[in-house]
Amino acid sequence: MTLENEINQEIARTRANALYQSGIIGLMGISVAMVIFVSFVWNDVEQNILLPWIGAFVFMLVFRIFLIINYRKNAEIGKIDSATTKKWESWFYYALVIMGALWASTAFFPYNANIFQNVLFVTLTMISLSGAAIALYSHSFRSMITYFSISILPVSIRLISLDERQAYLVAAATGLYYIIMLKIIRTLNVTLLDNIRLSIVNRNMSLRDPLTGLGNRRRLEIFVEKLIPMSSRNNQPFCVLLMDLDHFKKYNDSQGHHAGDVLLCAVSEIITDEVRSSDLAIRFGGEEFLVLMPDTKIDQAFTIAQRISTEVMESTDITISGGVSLHIPSENFEDTVRRADAALYKAKRNGRDLIEMADDTILN
Ligand code: GH3
Ligand code: MG
Ligand code: MG
Repeated sequence: MTLENEINQEIARTRANALYQSGIIGLMGISVAMVIFVSFVWNDVEQNILLPWIGAFVFMLVFRIFLIINYRKNAEIGKIDSATTKKWESWFYYALVIMGALWASTAFFPYNANIFQNVLFVTLTMISLSGAAIALYSHSFRSMITYFSISILPVSIRLISLDERQAYLVAAATGLYYIIMLKIIRTLNVTLLDNIRLSIVNRNMSLRDPLTGLGNRRRLEIFVEKLIPMSSRNNQPFCVLLMDLDHFKKYNDSQGHHAGDVLLCAVSEIITDEVRSSDLAIRFGGEEFLVLMPDTKIDQAFTIAQRISTEVMESTDITISGGVSLHIPSENFEDTVRRADAALYKAKRNGRDLIEMADDTILN
């Protein structure tokens, strides 16, 4: 996955999280607003209009609570991935749009009396709600801009249609508020996304080897912390493959350090191509690479190692040696690496361009 893709997915995840995290506060806010609004207009609107509206409002409220609870449940068990994030975001967005439309419809209620006061009250309610929405949904430009427009534009049209001088003035002020806030929405969103992007790039850089783009030892530590408990819980074996370029010093001395660097990158690419996406390949040291293979038996790991070795031999001017070990549940990770290292040493002793298995690895 390219860095840009990774960043975009992470931003989408952060956005969905932020939307659903702030969702409950938003719902509390609109519930309070609903009670105040209904109390204010109670005597001026027919109940056969107000009651169905309250019904629809409560229905949407319950639906959104249901959405939020479900999202959090799924997030807890790690079921929100890049494929489902978009779907969750869309659900949130459409529910938000329907809620906004419900609010907007109050501007067009057939008020029996005090029409201007009631529409003015709706306008003030919409201004406060839209302001809160900007703060709550600042991660999602689409949510902010839609909710804001649904809140402000219909009520402005309704004010103009009242054909009263005072109403025109309020409509003009509301329009101005709309224009000013558009600018603020844009700035807020860009700043937030820039910050997220920066933190992802930073984290990414801190876990990568700058020359080859492979993971580094810190990345390995994080991976292992998750892998060990998962593998013992699911009773899944995993393997460690340690590889080291043969006579790389000689290559450096004859071809120059820069050519050596280029070769390290080429070998990294081969390793990345040959391993599965669930494996982790890191640059373990100067010209040493480590591949961690979850849910893999030793013979499978051995086959992958040989594929890498063949490809390196065929497409570069160098060969590579490797040692494979199978993690034994009772040992710690460092011991598994030590046994892979011993096997690598054996491959070197036995003439290089070889893959060896750790002696004490049980063959299954
Ligand atoms: P062996 O087959 O026993 O592994 O021999 P070797 O020459 O590969 O091993 P040795 O450990 O003697 O030399 C490793 C060399 O790798 C020495 C060092 O200059 C080179 N090296 C380490 N890191 C880098 C790097 O980032 N770029 C380049 N160009 N060379 C590197
Ligand atoms: Mg070495
Ligand atoms: Mg070497």
